[in-house]
Amino acid sequence: YTGKTGSQLFQERLLKMKVKDFQSIPVVIPENSSVYDAICSMFLEDVGTLFVVNENGKLIGIVSRKDLLRASMGKQDLEALPIGIIMTRMPNVTTCTAEDSMLEIANKLISKQIDGLPVVKKDDNGEYDVIGRITKTNITKAFVYIGAEE
Ligand code: ADP
Repeated sequence: YTGKTGSQLFQERLLKMKVKDFQSIPVVIPENSSVYDAICSMFLEDVGTLFVVNENGKLIGIVSRKDLLRASMGKQDLEALPIGIIMTRMPNVTTCTAEDSMLEIANKLISKQIDGLPVVKKDDNGEYDVIGRITKTNITKAFVYIGAEE
C-alpha cells in the first residue's frame, strides 16, 4: 500500500495524460488571408480557432470565433480586411508542447480564459511549427477516457 490519497493518485493520473495523446489536427491559414477567407475556413473545417502562419509555415497569430464576429460587426469589406489586423499576434499567443500534461494545459486555458492552444515545436531559429491543436473538447475527451477506465 502506497499511502497515497485518492486525489494524489488522480493528480498523478492526470499528469501522465499528455497533449500528444489527445491533440487534434491544427487548421492553419496563411497571413495574406482576408477575414472573409478565415470565416469560410472556420466554417468548413468546423473548428473554433484558426492558427495564422507566415510564408514559411511558422506561427504568427491566432483568430477565434469572436474575433471574426467582432470584425464582421463593422461596415468593412470583409474580403479586403486582412486577418493580420484582427488576429492575436505572437508573442501574445499562448502555446503548449506535445509533452505537456493535460493538467498543465487545462490550467492555461482557465487562467487565460481561452478555448484552445496551438501545439508547437520550436525550430532551430526559435520559430514555431504548428503540429497540433488542443481545446476544451480534448479535455472533455480525456475526462471521459478516465471515467471509462477499469
Ligand atoms: P472566443 O473569442 O470565440 O470566445 P477564445 O475565448 O478562445 O474564443 O478567444 C478569446 C480571445 O483570446 C480572442 O481575442 C483570441 O484571439 C484570443 N486567443 C484565443 N486563443 C488564444 C491563445 N492560445 N493565445 C492567446 N490568445 C488567444
